[in-house]
Amino acid sequence: MFAFQNTPLNRHGEVRHTEEFIKPLLELPNTFFLPVHQQSIVCARSKNPDVDQNGQPLWLQSQELKQLIGSYQEKHLIYLGESDSKHYFTFRLKSPDSLQHMAQLRPEAVLELCGLRELFKQLPPEQAHLCSVAVAMEHWHNTHQYCGFCGHETYSNQAGFVRNCSNQDCQKQHFPRTDSAVICAITYQDKILLGRQTSWPEKRYSVIAGFVEPGETLEQAVAREGYEETGLRLKSIEYYRSQPWPFPQSLMVGFTAEAVSPEIKLLDRELEEARWFSREALTAAVEAEELVLPFKFSISRELINQWLNKNS
Ligand SMILES: [Zn+2]
Repeated sequence: MFAFQNTPLNRHGEVRHTEEFIKPLLELPNTFFLPVHQQSIVCARSKNPDVDQNGQPLWLQSQELKQLIGSYQEKHLIYLGESDSKHYFTFRLKSPDSLQHMAQLRPEAVLELCGLRELFKQLPPEQAHLCSVAVAMEHWHNTHQYCGFCGHETYSNQAGFVRNCSNQDCQKQHFPRTDSAVICAITYQDKILLGRQTSWPEKRYSVIAGFVEPGETLEQAVAREGYEETGLRLKSIEYYRSQPWPFPQSLMVGFTAEAVSPEIKLLDRELEEARWFSREALTAAVEAEELVLPFKFSISRELINQWLNKNS
């Protein structure tokens, strides 16, 4: 399964900036609000040890949100979208201390902050998708509190999709940013190139990835990253597909490419190791637990699986 591929979220971008659209949603029983703090989701876990101990995202209903913050502060709500006739918002907790306050709403549960990687392992794709949009938006708001032009404070507007500069002489608008990154399965004849960074979990290997630089096409970024990290010259660079990657706000654009020749040189030392694997060698290494592949929802894993499943 590939994350976010089949999770239609109607963001209502054409109307979400209007009060007429947003206001009525805030009172509906099928509208839910997710608290987020510094790239973590507030989750509720049962106090009963006999019940599933995985934390579930704490989707609050309208009445609970009112109870919590007295009255709606619409400007603090970020509209995520509509899915299956339900509407979803997120809002930022300024301090983790708010969890104690929130705990009154769920006395039967323990509230805790959960990271996305942890949640991805157990959430259905639709939920994982909503949580990832919430985290990406929270991160953007958190890191754009001040105007990059004049240094004055900014404030959230248009259901959280714009931050306006509060300086009347400036009035710049700031929009959510997505960082483009390329990720590429490089092959040579019947082998695939996998590498590992020192900072990764032990035995983890993956395909080559890196951020796109200003003024580059995606294909140029693939060729440059491939060369910098492995010394390989690439040909037949072809788009595969893309995946939002909310750690914290990237878009991974997947490619396949062939190396012109197989000699590897770790030029920029971003990788501590890079090797060619045949299908048999890779399968055997994974089975022997000598090597760990990227986590199952990632496009990196998908690229590797696609290659593994090919006949030649
Ligand atoms: Zn400004």
